[in-house]
Amino acid sequence: MSAPSSSLSPSELKSQLIDQARELGFESVGVVAVPVELRQDYFMRWLEKGMHAEMRWMANNPERRAYPQQLMPEARSIIVCGLNYYQPELERRGRIAKYALGKDYHKIIYKKLKRLCAWLRDQGGQNRPYVDTGPLLEKPIAEQAGIGWQGKNTVILNPTEGQWLFLGNILTTLELPADQPPANRCGSCTRCIDVCPTQAIVAPYELDARKCISYLTIEHPGPIPMEFREAIGDHLFGCDDCLDVCPWNRWAGESRETKLAARPYPDLREMLDWEDEHFHTTFEGTPIRRLKLPRWLRNICVVLGNTGTLEDLPALQKTAQHADPMVAEHAEWAITRIQQRLSHENSP
Ligand code: SF4
Ligand code: SF4
Repeated sequence: MSAPSSSLSPSELKSQLIDQARELGFESVGVVAVPVELRQDYFMRWLEKGMHAEMRWMANNPERRAYPQQLMPEARSIIVCGLNYYQPELERRGRIAKYALGKDYHKIIYKKLKRLCAWLRDQGGQNRPYVDTGPLLEKPIAEQAGIGWQGKNTVILNPTEGQWLFLGNILTTLELPADQPPANRCGSCTRCIDVCPTQAIVAPYELDARKCISYLTIEHPGPIPMEFREAIGDHLFGCDDCLDVCPWNRWAGESRETKLAARPYPDLREMLDWEDEHFHTTFEGTPIRRLKLPRWLRNICVVLGNTGTLEDLPALQKTAQHADPMVAEHAEWAITRIQQRLSHENSP
C-alpha cells in the first residue's frame, strides 16, 4: 500500500478526495480497487458482431481493456469522476447532441483531473488521468465505482444525475475504499429502445453503432447509407433521443460548467456555402471541429432533405456542384426529397 505523505487514513483520504472533486465541479465520484478484472464478454461479443462499425481503434488490444492495471501496474485504485453536462438546446434548425453544444469536454475534464492529480500527489500518490484517451472500459469501470448502472441504451445512469454525465478516470497508487456497483433499476422500462429512430438498440444493453445516429453523423466517414437518411430527421450532429425519454433523466439540472453552454451558429443554408476556414474558425475548440467540413455539409444536406423548404433549394442546387462527390450526392438527395415533399403537399 502506498503510504500517504499526509497522516490521513484511506477513508479520510477518500472523503477529502470527494470534497476536492466536488469543488472542481464533479457531481459524482467513485472508486474501484485494482487489480480488477472487468467483465469483457459482452464487449468481446459486441466486437465480434462488428457493432463497433468503422471505429477500429476500439478493437485494438481488447484483452488489455479487461485489466486496467496493465496500463499502470503499480495502481491500487481507479477514481471515477462524473460531471453533469446537461444544457438546453437553442432554437435552431438542426439538432446538436447536448454534449457537443459548447466547448470540447476533453480539455475541460482533463484539466480538472490534472488538478485532482496534483492534490493526490500531495497525498503521496502517483496518478494517471484519462478522458476517453486510454484503452479503458469506461462504462464497466463507472458501474464498478458505483457511479451508476448501465441503462438499456448502454449509457451509465446515475440515480440522481441521470445519464448526462461526462466521465473521467484517474489511476492512482493510493489505496482508497472501494464503492459497490449499484443495482440496475431499468426494470421493465423500454422507452429508450422504443424511441430510437433507427432501431439501433437491437436488444437491451446492446447498441449497434452501425445503425446509431450518433455514429452515422459523427464517426462514419463516408456517405450516410440511404436506409438511415430519413430516420435521421433533423439530427445534425449526434442524437440524444434515447436519453431524452429516459425517466431518470427528467430531474437533471443544468450543468454548472459554463464552458459547455450552447453556442449559436448561422443557419444551415448559410453554412452550406462555407469553405474550410469558416468551418474551422467557427468550431475551434468544440467537438464539432473534428468532423471536418465535408461531413458537416453531408449532415446539413440530410437535415435539409428531411426538413427543408422551397427556400433552401437554391443553396442545395449550388451544393450539388460541390467538388466533393459525397457532398454533391447528399445535396442531390436533399433536393429530390424536398421536391417530393412539396409535390405531395401541393397534390389535391
Ligand atoms: S443515440 Fe439515437 S440513434 Fe443512437 S441508440 Fe440512442 S436513440 Fe438510437
Ligand atoms: S429509458 Fe428506461 S430502459 Fe432505457 S435507460 Fe432509461 S430507465 Fe433504462
